[in-house]
Amino acid sequence: MKLILLGPPGAGKGTQAKILMEKYNIPQLSTGDMLRDAVASKTEVGIRAKEVMDLGKFVSDEIVNQIVADRISQDDCKDGFILDGYPRTAAQALALEELLKKNNTHLDAVIELKVDEKALIERLENRIKETLAAGGAVRSDDNAEVFAKRLVEYREKTLPLSDFYRQNKQLKEVNGMAQVDVVTKEIQTYL
Ligand code: ADP
Repeated sequence: MKLILLGPPGAGKGTQAKILMEKYNIPQLSTGDMLRDAVASKTEVGIRAKEVMDLGKFVSDEIVNQIVADRISQDDCKDGFILDGYPRTAAQALALEELLKKNNTHLDAVIELKVDEKALIERLENRIKETLAAGGAVRSDDNAEVFAKRLVEYREKTLPLSDFYRQNKQLKEVNGMAQVDVVTKEIQTYL
């Protein structure tokens, strides 16, 4: 099963991707996590990406498309995958279409998690509080100022993808404001 999770930062894509990964035994491909790994290991890509990420901006399509193409070609992706945070731009969506076509395959569903912007900011604040209380390290882009910029990027560049997938009759809209297990159940009705 090949699946995209769409939605703004904080919508719960990562949470749902992890649950679905367990249930369907297919990997979660989070471009955010892959980029943070590159940052942590100080690769050339990581060094370039960190600057952009800390500004709340998107990393270049070229870099992200390459990361995803490399990852999807690995053996554990042959039965399916959950894309979490990719595609985020029209150019990425087109690159993904090409990649899937080349591999003679297609998406099974594009799930959009719908969440009010006010709730997103509350979730961010809770995530920061919980991380700090647990003695963890807050992501360098998880603060109110950078988060606001991530939302702007989302609205300008990612939101239009919903129309693209709606026109392709692949889009399924799910209420991301519900409890985690209720969201999972609603997603599963489309799988
Ligand atoms: P969130 O969905 O909460 O914004 P992510 O971990 O998915 O968090 O992404 C963190 C950052 O990584 C983004 O703000 C962006 O800079 C970069 N990033 C992740 N995925 C992409 C992508 N597909 N295209 C461009 N940049 C990306």
